[in-house]
Amino acid sequence: MDKLEIHHKLSNGQFYCGDQSDESRKQFYFDDFKICPKCQSKEIIEENYQAGIRLSRSYDAYGTDVFKCNNCQWYTSFHYDEGGDSEYYYEPRWKKGWIEEKKIYEENKKKEVEEQNNK
Ligand SMILES: [Zn+2]
Repeated sequence: MDKLEIHHKLSNGQFYCGDQSDESRKQFYFDDFKICPKCQSKEIIEENYQAGIRLSRSYDAYGTDVFKCNNCQWYTSFHYDEGGDSEYYYEPRWKKGWIEEKKIYEENKKKEVEEQNNK
């Protein structure tokens, strides 16, 4: 990965970089980190920056994952913690309703596909 523009480094070694707007990151999360919210490309590169290991909690690693679009150079970062269960693997900020919104998004997408198939 070429030079990251780090916006904010936290005391535990995790950091924020790239596009941190809720709009882009939410869409990216809704599409399972597979589609660039800016150019719709599926050429996403993921880089892991482990910040540490929680000795108290069965050696769960935590850190930052950076996702970058190979087509338009858009990138963003998400914090992760192996100590979270699968839905909460990334960022506590998702507890603010992102997980529920994603379920609705996926339901609607499924309905769209079904409607297409019924035509
Ligand atoms: Zn892109």
